[in-house]
Amino acid sequence: MSETHQDETVRSETSARALTHFINGKTVDGTSHRFGDVFNPALGAVSARVPLASVAEVDAAVAAARDAFPAWSETAPIKRARVLFKFKELLDRHHDELAELITREHGKVFSDAKGEVMRGIEIVEFACGIPNLLKTDFTDQIGGGIDNWNLRQPLGVVAGITPFNFPMMVPCWMFPVAIACGNTFVLKPSERDPSASIRLAELFKEAGLPDGVLNVVHGDKVAVDALLVHPEVSALSFVGSTPIAEYIYTEGTRHGKRVQALGGAKNHLVVMPDADLDQAVDALIGAAYGSAGERCMAISVAVAVGHIADELIERLTPRVKSLKILNGMESAAEMGPLVTAAHREKVTGYIEAGVAAGAKLVVDGRGHQVPGHEQGFFLGGTLFDDVSTDMKIYREEIFGPVLCVVRVPDFASAVELINANEFANGVSLFTSDGGVARAFSRQIQIGMVGINVPIPVPMAWHSFGGWKKSLFGDHHAYGEEGVRFYTRYKSIMQRWPDSIAKGAEFTMPVAK
Ligand code: NAD
Repeated sequence: MSETHQDETVRSETSARALTHFINGKTVDGTSHRFGDVFNPALGAVSARVPLASVAEVDAAVAAARDAFPAWSETAPIKRARVLFKFKELLDRHHDELAELITREHGKVFSDAKGEVMRGIEIVEFACGIPNLLKTDFTDQIGGGIDNWNLRQPLGVVAGITPFNFPMMVPCWMFPVAIACGNTFVLKPSERDPSASIRLAELFKEAGLPDGVLNVVHGDKVAVDALLVHPEVSALSFVGSTPIAEYIYTEGTRHGKRVQALGGAKNHLVVMPDADLDQAVDALIGAAYGSAGERCMAISVAVAVGHIADELIERLTPRVKSLKILNGMESAAEMGPLVTAAHREKVTGYIEAGVAAGAKLVVDGRGHQVPGHEQGFFLGGTLFDDVSTDMKIYREEIFGPVLCVVRVPDFASAVELINANEFANGVSLFTSDGGVARAFSRQIQIGMVGINVPIPVPMAWHSFGGWKKSLFGDHHAYGEEGVRFYTRYKSIMQRWPDSIAKGAEFTMPVAK
């Protein structure tokens, strides 16, 4: 993007826009008189005010979804798919517009935001296959004159609660699949970057989605708690930090709902002595500092095996120092700001804790300034060496541009270290040895594994999810797991009167 474009941003965002909810096919002003600030993180300025819903506003969204459910769930899957096909076309047409909305509220660089939009579109493409995905099994003549088959039926009103770091992709993990399955949906996006969700709902309506099938309510804990206890919400999908994921899972299931709650992460990338070091360093730079480390699949720990450690640090250091940290709308930007000043404070606190604990601070990103953007929430890339597993910077999710290098003597120690971590979202191994790669894939206790792939986010027709404290619930997100989560399994056995034997049967029926 040009400088001119950037100047326009400054001008247009001097007065904050008022955002709206999207309920029953219409944009609706907030009535709670509670608002949150939405920032343009590169400018450090408030760009919009987001209404924070009251319980009554959440009730209105759930009521709209409930009323839309009977007709939508009875709509033939192929007709639902046709709306999704049109939605996909509109998303293609508005690809750049959506990416720009993301960059201006999240801060990630525009090319990365475009990648996020593409990953969201891919889920819609997957959901377009719903007639095939809902096909089920049929057994002819399971017993005398009896056939048995199963159905996958929609659940009713389902809700999604999403984090700030993927304001389009993560909502798209949920609502296209849920809606394709015949459910109706209430989305509560992150209050920090809420605009993309509203635009998605508008475009889905333009594609022909009936009013009430997709509703968006903005809000904070008040809105989330209202969804958690609402008797007409059948299921909840959550993505966010681990403490909130655990809370959502516990409370949601306690209130009788089906819940999948994806939590935080601490992802390791193991560099074996036989790895192609150029590739491993490229992978670490992109995966640790891309999106300023604000990805649940970001690599935050490099595990250097054996003699590779010194050379790894030597090669990483100049690369971290020379990261192009700019307003994400500038085409040269490799990394943008953090999402808010408060989040930058939190990440800075971790850097201080690492220093205090005795880790070696090789590159210090604190105090990084971007000329012309002095108020922006920027932080430079940070690199620690000699990190040990008892340190807070190792144990906790930092969610910023901070890479910790841990040194281990051998492969077995790397596996043991990773398996002892309470998070288990993603992991990566760089090696040129197929046997080691195979052993790693089988032994590692992690939900998503990359071999010479730094961020192994499954494509739309596979499913996404971690283990341990990175996911509470039984189903991973999207793909076939998504279809299973958003449908209820029913088995039907049928026979017709002419094949029914006369007289009551008192024994357990068996095939005759
Ligand atoms: P967050 O947990 O602060 O917020 C997520 C959602 O929960 C938001 O919609 C927010 O409004 C709501 N929320 C926040 N506090 C709440 C409370 N006390 N009660 C009820 N609801 C509450 O997460 P975030 O900071 O927006 O996102 C970053 C986190 O999300 C990181 O931990 C990251 O690892 C995680 N994440 C995980 C995945 C995954 O697939 N596992 C994907 C993306 C992000």
